[in-house]
Amino acid sequence: QSRRSGEPYIVHPVAVACTLARLHLDAPTILAALLHDVVEDTTITTKEIEKKFGKQVSVLVDGLSKLDKIEFQSAEDAQAENFRKMLLAMAQDMRVVLIKLADQVQGLRHAVKAEPSAQRNAVARLAVDIYAPLANRLGVWQLKWEIEDLSLRILDPEIYQRIARWLDEKRNDREKYIADVVLQLRAALDESGVAAEISGRPKHIYSIYNKMRNKELDFASLYDVRAVRAIVKDIKACYTVLGIVHNLWAPLPGEFDDYIARPKGN
Ligand code: MN
Repeated sequence: QSRRSGEPYIVHPVAVACTLARLHLDAPTILAALLHDVVEDTTITTKEIEKKFGKQVSVLVDGLSKLDKIEFQSAEDAQAENFRKMLLAMAQDMRVVLIKLADQVQGLRHAVKAEPSAQRNAVARLAVDIYAPLANRLGVWQLKWEIEDLSLRILDPEIYQRIARWLDEKRNDREKYIADVVLQLRAALDESGVAAEISGRPKHIYSIYNKMRNKELDFASLYDVRAVRAIVKDIKACYTVLGIVHNLWAPLPGEFDDYIARPKGN
């Protein structure tokens, strides 16, 4: 089958399968991703899928079809949290939700190239209200940030372009700064004999947009467009690294969070 544009429809399920392969999901999940629209869009039944590809794959494909039947007309109608609970309950296999999230990402990648329309906005709104928080809750940040950035690009292209351009202009400064911080931190950790993997951490456009909105900040006063990550083996080592970091750079009042002592919802 082809889309109206002439593009073969198979491009879509293949892209969804590739996204999941990059997340190292298992073979039945990749197969189900390839087949996820087959029952909906062709005369082939779940039974036939089971015969050809086994019970596991057919159960996953069936779970996806059931998910698609939940109507999310407006997230404001019922609380988004209830929708999320329903999604989780309906999908007894977590892999169904992961395929759905990858499907959303692929749908948004496609929508971003389409003409602006009310329907396109509704898709993006739903993605931000339902699917991004779901990805966050499941800890699949690769899908979360892509859903958020693509949705923002659809819903508010002007602010998206402004942030993207600003990040781009400052890229060299930022990269130099991060490289310097990583070097200093590595030297200090080596000296204390703490084993850690240190890297610069990319910040996504939506998270910057959120910060600006929540704190009513402008670009100039945004601190956390620069981020560094240190991965250590346990909590004790984590606090040791924190002590070393605070010794090198004083924390800003009101800008310090401890998610071990006070965990986030996800
Ligand atoms: Mn699909």
